[in-house]
Amino acid sequence: MEENLVQDASDTPLQQEGMPHEVLFLVLSYLPLYELLVMAQVCRSVKEVLTYDILPWLNMVVGKPLNKRFNDVHLLKITSKADGRLKTLALLNCSKITDEGLQQVIARNPYITRLWLPACTSLSPSGVIEAVKLLTKNKHRLKSLRINGIYNLKKEDLEILHCLIDDESHPWQKKGLNFYHEYKAFSTFKHSYPPIDVEICPKCKEARVVFDCPRDSCKSMRQQQKLECRGCQHCILRCEECGMCIKDEDPVEAACVDVLCLGCWLQLPKCSFCNKPYCSQHADQKCSLVGSSGFVCIDCHARFIEN
Ligand SMILES: [Zn+2]
Ligand SMILES: [Zn+2]
Ligand SMILES: [Zn+2]
Ligand SMILES: [Zn+2]
Ligand SMILES: [Zn+2]
Repeated sequence: MEENLVQDASDTPLQQEGMPHEVLFLVLSYLPLYELLVMAQVCRSVKEVLTYDILPWLNMVVGKPLNKRFNDVHLLKITSKADGRLKTLALLNCSKITDEGLQQVIARNPYITRLWLPACTSLSPSGVIEAVKLLTKNKHRLKSLRINGIYNLKKEDLEILHCLIDDESHPWQKKGLNFYHEYKAFSTFKHSYPPIDVEICPKCKEARVVFDCPRDSCKSMRQQQKLECRGCQHCILRCEECGMCIKDEDPVEAACVDVLCLGCWLQLPKCSFCNKPYCSQHADQKCSLVGSSGFVCIDCHARFIEN
């Protein structure tokens, strides 16, 4: 299946010997599937580790660019490498994965603690519930479930999921707030998060990821139980950079597609041509300007420099 998903990258090994085994292990166990497969193609020692060890296969993250083509057959085949010991199954936007495929993998891997299925749009709420039932049998604890973007999730579905997952001794509520900018920038395994990512949005009543507001004036309202700007991404416009609601001021456009609050806009470095900044997440799109410490955005580069 590796051959089907990844084109032959190269026959020349990038580096053959030299990297200590333990370091390699550590790196590989955090790589998404695509990177794993690409590395196995270009580096012999990685290929050996992937062939003979199961450790790198225990945390399976399938994202871009594999996700569009990734189907049940791929899923079963690749997860079999974990030999029933899969700990993380993260299928990001894998729209071809069905309830049946998921069910089969879960039945063979009962020790999964993180099940992330955001925007796996072929899955149904009942399919997710069945999977979670399997993963919470025999006192096994599923610590994290992400289902944002699965269609038709109802309040009742979320209640069932909470009954299955919630750990009475550690109620999430005590742990803290969920901020938009932290969620957007989450590095895969670090962001501490409620056990289930979605809840019923107080504004639109849909099952979505709901954000709190870090704005000082909103914090004090929150203390008075006035949760005016608590809501999902569709209901409350927020600054990409700091996660604050944008309500009393006009949102300002960044050089990427995002919007910023005026405070963040003022602070960020701007394109020398159009004077728009990039948010931190898209800062890698800056094009450097010869003979200057400034930069130009991709659009201006295409319009004024390339031609
Ligand atoms: Zn909403
Ligand atoms: Zn801001
Ligand atoms: Zn606010
Ligand atoms: Zn520009
Ligand atoms: Zn951006």
